[in-house]
Amino acid sequence: MSSMQAGLQRLLNVTADSLAEYCGLTGDQQENSVFFERQLGLLQRNPSQNAINSEFCAKYLPALVDAYDAQDVAFNIPMRMLNIVAYLPYFSRFLLMTAKTSICKTQARRMATASSVPPDPAHLVEMCQFLSTLLALQGTSSVSEEDKQALLPKMREWNRKYQRQQITRCLKQLEDDPETTLMAEGLKLHCQKSLNECGFDGCENSGISKLLQCSRCKTAVYCDRNHQKMSWPFHKATCFPAVF
Ligand SMILES: [Zn+2]
Ligand SMILES: [Zn+2]
Repeated sequence: MSSMQAGLQRLLNVTADSLAEYCGLTGDQQENSVFFERQLGLLQRNPSQNAINSEFCAKYLPALVDAYDAQDVAFNIPMRMLNIVAYLPYFSRFLLMTAKTSICKTQARRMATASSVPPDPAHLVEMCQFLSTLLALQGTSSVSEEDKQALLPKMREWNRKYQRQQITRCLKQLEDDPETTLMAEGLKLHCQKSLNECGFDGCENSGISKLLQCSRCKTAVYCDRNHQKMSWPFHKATCFPAVF
């Protein structure tokens, strides 16, 4: 197979490793926005999306966050990839482990200080969706008051102009709207569920303080070995050895 054919094959086959490559995390390659965009499209139609994203997180999440931190604009490839995996327990665990990391604060600041509206409203929607998830996971208080005051008028304008639910939700979270705050708390509980509750579907042993953690992925806990064993056929698809 020629190297061009191999490259094409790789582009059409979305894996944790190929995503890392196009995010610029591995090899000598820089980020490749055209290939990354193509892979995102394929990823969204892939029935194994959850497994691919979980493997990606287990292997590359710390590197992805480093790449995100190194950016200086609000819309970038690491941000787009983080937005995809932000609902996974791997991401929640990473945030809880590295308590000093405030990606939410960073994303809000970048959006607050951006000099112009992104030319593509779809980019704006992605940024707001990401900030909305971060606000749910890290709390609106993680955004500095200064950034909040700068961001609110911009958000209101984007909301009027584009009328997209992701923008509206994000705006309402920043405004501390009670109903939206409640929804955000529900999302956080959902994202962190497997870190805090026995993963056996239908387990009734709630309130057990000492739970066994899956030593491989560290994103699932069980009340006993039996429930861990019975859950394995379902858990194994998203269980990958975490590097963090
Ligand atoms: Zn259980
Ligand atoms: Zn596991």
